Amino acid sequence: MARSEAASYPPAMGAFDTYEAPARCPSCGDINYLGGQTKAFEPDFGEHFGRHFEPGAPQVVGYVPSNMIRERIWDGEWWRVRDRAEPRRIRLLADFDELVACLCGRPLAAILNLEYDDDARTLELRSIDALDAIEDDVAAQVDLASGEGVVPWTGDYRAFVAELEALVERPEQVRAQTLRRALHQHFDGYERWSVANADEPLVGWCRLQGEVRCEACGATRERARVLSLLGSEGAEPALGAGFSGGALRVGARLAVSLDWRERDEHRGPFLRLRHPLPADSLTLCGAPERWGCGCGAGRAALIVRFAVDDGGLVLEELTTRSLHTLDDLEGVDLAYASELLHPTARPREPVTREEAIRYLSYRWRLAPSARGG
Ligand SMILES: [Zn+2]
Ligand SMILES: [Zn+2]
Repeated sequence: MARSEAASYPPAMGAFDTYEAPARCPSCGDINYLGGQTKAFEPDFGEHFGRHFEPGAPQVVGYVPSNMIRERIWDGEWWRVRDRAEPRRIRLLADFDELVACLCGRPLAAILNLEYDDDARTLELRSIDALDAIEDDVAAQVDLASGEGVVPWTGDYRAFVAELEALVERPEQVRAQTLRRALHQHFDGYERWSVANADEPLVGWCRLQGEVRCEACGATRERARVLSLLGSEGAEPALGAGFSGGALRVGARLAVSLDWRERDEHRGPFLRLRHPLPADSLTLCGAPERWGCGCGAGRAALIVRFAVDDGGLVLEELTTRSLHTLDDLEGVDLAYASELLHPTARPREPVTREEAIRYLSYRWRLAPSARGG
């Protein structure tokens, strides 16, 4: 949902390391599965590249990890924010272009909480803390931050480093103020990312909005999610002729032609999981998302239930479901699989039901049905 500036990297782009850990939103309590890429751990683009940092899996970095905070600038790009570090810890602010807002609209500053072992030359991502990027004192909890988005990048790497060198000579509160300003700038106008102020969806997309209930714990929250219900250009919309997209609230009526329900076919980016369909309902399932309910059920997939009547469809209910086994697709008619059904994808249709289910099991990491199906 967050916009990101076109990233402009200093010279020598190597393979990226990746990271991921769950982090609770300080505002709504939902869990965001934060992940991304960083070059902070590969100072020389040596043989240690492409590692994945996650809790429980220390990674060998190939240098003495505390060196990252021994000097005031690390590898010509990362700068010391607070003066005093914690023992065996490095707290690294994720790159600006990977800082996003929670679905509730709160802008999040993701801080990678890393534990180092100088003897073993390892770093472990213990957790990611999500702070309120605007309201919280982020600088007080960060040892290292990237200079991108903080000091100007003009295309001249030496000028960039000179700016960073000037910055790290300033007193701690000035550096904190600099970081605060950069966060404000990155999240400028974030208020309109919140559900209440969301922009109209892009052409070809549809925004579903309303109370969303977690099927695991029953908690509800106001959310807006965007789904591609129109299908590719020139094709009939996934929900039937007459549907034109836009914003849909729970309770909305769609006057669409439902003849297609009789035909055993995939619809736009959605795989049909069963045939025939129930007479009085239509249930869609989105792909697992990068967030989930605060109850810890896991990544949420949006379940969209329509009632079917002579006039078309009525958006009846939005829920979230965590998908672990094929049984969790119980009751789903159509599942989102744009990669498989996009016009440029291989293989093209026809995709058999068996292929479709094998594909979803792989993409969504679903275990086989406990019932042996
Ligand atoms: Zn939130
Ligand atoms: Zn829940």
